[in-house]
Amino acid sequence: MKEFMEQIECAQTIGITGHIHPDGDCIGSCLALRQYISEKYPEKQTDVYLEPISDEFLFLSGAGQILTIPKNEKYDLFFVLDCSSEDRFEPFSSLVRNADTVFCIDHHISNQGMGNYCTADPKASATCEVLCDLIPLEEVSLKCAECLYTGIVHDTGVFKHSNTTKKTMIYAGELLEKGIHHSKIIDETFFQKTYVQNLALGRALLNSRLFCDGTIICSGLSQEELDQLGAVPSDVNGIIDQLRVTKGVETAVFLYPLKNGGVKVSMRSNGKVNVSSIAQEFGGGGHILAAGCTMFGSFEQIEKQLLPKIKEQL
Ligand code: AMP
Ligand code: MN
Ligand code: MN
Repeated sequence: MKEFMEQIECAQTIGITGHIHPDGDCIGSCLALRQYISEKYPEKQTDVYLEPISDEFLFLSGAGQILTIPKNEKYDLFFVLDCSSEDRFEPFSSLVRNADTVFCIDHHISNQGMGNYCTADPKASATCEVLCDLIPLEEVSLKCAECLYTGIVHDTGVFKHSNTTKKTMIYAGELLEKGIHHSKIIDETFFQKTYVQNLALGRALLNSRLFCDGTIICSGLSQEELDQLGAVPSDVNGIIDQLRVTKGVETAVFLYPLKNGGVKVSMRSNGKVNVSSIAQEFGGGGHILAAGCTMFGSFEQIEKQLLPKIKEQL
């Protein structure tokens, strides 16, 4: 906390970024940190860089000022949130490399450290929870609390995943006390789906196949299927969670195409399989029960590589 405060105090220009395909925790943590710094030090320049975010997060303070294209600027301090490897924040990696000081704040077990300072707490449910450790709660405003709460809600699946601890709930309670509209945040950013998102979920469920006596479920959506539905990559968020709750399933795998020609692999485990170790074998990472990586080849070829690794652990 001391270094976190000192580094912010010393810097005049501060950049903040998170991972590609930003999720609720990534967006929430970047905007919470920007909000905190800009309220405490209005004279400092604080810029958030992220890929375009989904509409449901646009109500968060500062969402409208997110930069999607790197400025030609050398920052005194750059925060990298909710990720730690350059390929995960690739659009902005040169900005991070050029910064005088890099500070990483994360909660992934696969984080092996990055930058000049790194706080990665694998016991924390979300990067927003790690921020609650670093920012004095009495200095958290309503706008900052909305961002932090959104991040915690998303990474815990609304306080349902096994990463939810007593500490998570205590912080969530503190944030509620700031006056946030918690049920609106949960409904409108987590549960509400657009018609297209529901169609994508339906198609993915129809495409799904069971392996290993129903303990593994695999599904995917091809580019043609996404185009047919008029869906974009962020429309598939949440599909993997529905696959995981299929009765009898231990491990769920969901595949969809990335812009670079690769395939995004999302994996979830109900406990028996450490999906982070499998994702790491293929250059990705994440948490024991929720991890991902990028692979190349057809869906069938990718499944052929993943299934033996999952079976081995089962
Ligand atoms: P996802 O399946 O994209 O929701 O990701 C599950 C978890 O794994 C998240 O915490 C991600 O940050 C992490 N993750 C996903 N893809 C990658 C990757 N290619 N490299 C490292 N971590 C990843
Ligand atoms: Mn994330
Ligand atoms: Mn996270």
